[in-house]
Amino acid sequence: MANGTPERILLAHGGGGQLTNQLIRSHILPHLGNEALAPLGDSACLELGSASICFTTDSYVVKPLFFRGGDIGKLAVCGTINDLAVAGSRPLALTLSLIVEEGLEVHTLDRILESIGQTARQAGVSVVAGDTKTVERGSADGIFINTAGIGIRLPGVELGLDKFAVGDKVFINGTIGDHGLTIISQREGIRFESQLESDCAPLAGLTCMLLENVQGIRFMRDATRGGLAAVLNEMVEGSRLGIEIREADLPIKPVVQGAADVLGFDVLNVANEGKFVAVVAPEAAEKCLELCHAHELGRSARVIGEVVESRDLPLVELRTKIGGRRIVQMPYGRELPRIC
Ligand code: MG
Repeated sequence: MANGTPERILLAHGGGGQLTNQLIRSHILPHLGNEALAPLGDSACLELGSASICFTTDSYVVKPLFFRGGDIGKLAVCGTINDLAVAGSRPLALTLSLIVEEGLEVHTLDRILESIGQTARQAGVSVVAGDTKTVERGSADGIFINTAGIGIRLPGVELGLDKFAVGDKVFINGTIGDHGLTIISQREGIRFESQLESDCAPLAGLTCMLLENVQGIRFMRDATRGGLAAVLNEMVEGSRLGIEIREADLPIKPVVQGAADVLGFDVLNVANEGKFVAVVAPEAAEKCLELCHAHELGRSARVIGEVVESRDLPLVELRTKIGGRRIVQMPYGRELPRIC
């Protein structure tokens, strides 16, 4: 180990936390850096002729392949749609690449493909290109999936980390921790398993509706790997602003909190697959909430905090229920491997 950098790739390098960040900045960007990649957004925003598009890709290695509330196929469609959605675009089309391990039951593959088709139809996107590869037994774990997607940017929508101001409100469209705790409980065979359900869902319908009807939405990001903690830290990184959230306002299902307590997880660090965090102008918050509450994927939406001035470092702080304060750190990334 030199300079604290491990010599081999660790599972935590894929955890969406500090180590993923390090890998991207120290090893990927030096070779590939360019203007569209530089903001490290959920999607790249490109001008192609007269069209303004968002373009993104994501790979899915979740274990187990089927879980309460979804499966790897549904996840592969929703995850890419959500990265396009939070970048301010309306998803149009996906590609689908399957890497299948020798020995996977054809019936299992059929179930996954059925789920992919159904989720894509419901979300109004088409799978327009694809690829199928097989690898020897032992070279993969059943199936890995990659999807890429394009979306058309909504006219007049400009989202960016540079648009925040002190006093802006931070809101989330519903409960946190559901996806990650469902996966880990199912993997460990924990007794709450039957009451937990992943929140895996395509968010574009809700995000487009908000962006088309509310002025003053500054930024959105889906709170996937690394959970709410990672997203909030990414939002203030490199800025002179902080974010303060209130524990009492965090929407968490009691069964999710219970599972997290027993398994030793901080719900703030746990992945979601149907949640986005938005920073909005103070005067826009109420309208956003009202619209969210009328939408099936935003019924438990809440303002959870606000953008504050930061004295020296850009900090995310949690005001606890009993009036204390603690710093919400960027998770390291090793807590929950293969969660999506
Ligand atoms: Mg994302």
